[in-house]
Amino acid sequence: MKASITDKKEIAKGTLLVEFELYGTKAYFKPGQFCSVKLLNPPYTDEKGSQRIFSIVSSPNEKGSITIATRVSGSAFKRSLAELSAGSEVEISDAMGEFTLPEDKDKQVVFITGGIGITPFMSMLRYVQEQKLDYKITLIYSNRDKDSTAFFDELAMMSREMKKNFRLVMTMTDDGEWQGEKQRIDAKFIKDYVKGIDNSIFMMAGPPGMVDEMVKTLKGMGVKEENIRTDSFAGY
Ligand SMILES: Cc1cc2nc3c(=O)[nH]c(=O)nc-3n(C[C@H](O)[C@H](O)[C@H](O)COP(=O)(O)OP(=O)(O)OC[C@H]3O[C@@H](n4cnc5c(N)ncnc54)[C@H](O)[C@@H]3O)c2cc1C
Repeated sequence: MKASITDKKEIAKGTLLVEFELYGTKAYFKPGQFCSVKLLNPPYTDEKGSQRIFSIVSSPNEKGSITIATRVSGSAFKRSLAELSAGSEVEISDAMGEFTLPEDKDKQVVFITGGIGITPFMSMLRYVQEQKLDYKITLIYSNRDKDSTAFFDELAMMSREMKKNFRLVMTMTDDGEWQGEKQRIDAKFIKDYVKGIDNSIFMMAGPPGMVDEMVKTLKGMGVKEENIRTDSFAGY
């Protein structure tokens, strides 16, 4: 479907949020799904083409628009996206993917991610809050420092507003001023923050290296495969 850029802003160090208005259609998607974005008149091109896949960060309740967030890089696609002005046209695919909120609300849900892997979880958390869904969610979110942590303020506010449903655990691995957790996410870290591991569904999203490492860690802790869900951002 055709769409155009309506807004762009840097929401953390090196992280660009881009909002698209969809022409005459109400995109239907489930929180956690992704779509592909094709730039129609990019100022830069290279052999990797002008199309990329992005998880949707907005909630499906925002009719007529979708938002994505991405780490800026030197690729022609990213340089073009950073330069294109409001009104520039793009082609957006239908939403795809099975990485969505579990049906079963009895098990606690543990999101584990770092950096740009936060994107599908933002859509899920916004939707859970708006619809007042009865999930018990823990988000373990790792970043180098506060400045590069996308959605820091919004997540902090969500954890205050959804005290009963949502627990936020942030770790900053290289931030001298951060008073909270600084450890990398490993088996001990997960055990410290997640009680009732056997009654939990673990969901991981982000660059493949990180997701694979987390899956290995969880399996090493005895988490059953059926309780592990992943969304690997191939291309990182
Ligand atoms: C399901 C899914 C969800 C995603 N969600 C997001 C998101 O929310 N935000 C975000 O920023 N990115 C997301 N991505 C990744 C995104 O599509 C881009 O690949 C990424 O942003 C890097 O793009 P680039 O233009 O900076 O680098 P590229 O120019 O694409 O190059 C990065 C490196 O990856 C290599 N590469 C490129 N394509 C592939 C491929 N298909 N398989 C293996 N290696 C490849 C290149 O050779 C290069 O070394 C997602 C990917 C998937 C599959």
